[in-house]
Amino acid sequence: MLGGKDKGKTGKVLGVIPADNRLLVEGLNMMKKHLRAKQQGQKGQIISKERPVAIGSVALVCKSCGKPTRVGFSVDGKTKTRVCKKCKATIA
Ligand SMILES: [Zn+2]
Repeated sequence: MLGGKDKGKTGKVLGVIPADNRLLVEGLNMMKKHLRAKQQGQKGQIISKERPVAIGSVALVCKSCGKPTRVGFSVDGKTKTRVCKKCKATIA
């Protein structure tokens, strides 16, 4: 993560939303959500949930070159793959 409150943190990528250019990263950009009791006698609860972060604001440590890198997209026909912008290796 390059900016914001989670600067310097790393986490596992849980999912990619290519249409939005966003990533869901474990433990990053957590949002606390307060659930109110819907019925009497029930307790309200606070849940934390990751929110997708913009790809431009995270750095990924590339397994190929071992450097923090930005992720680019390479479109090969209909398949969109993520690639390391430094060494062009495909990132699974
Ligand atoms: Zn690389």
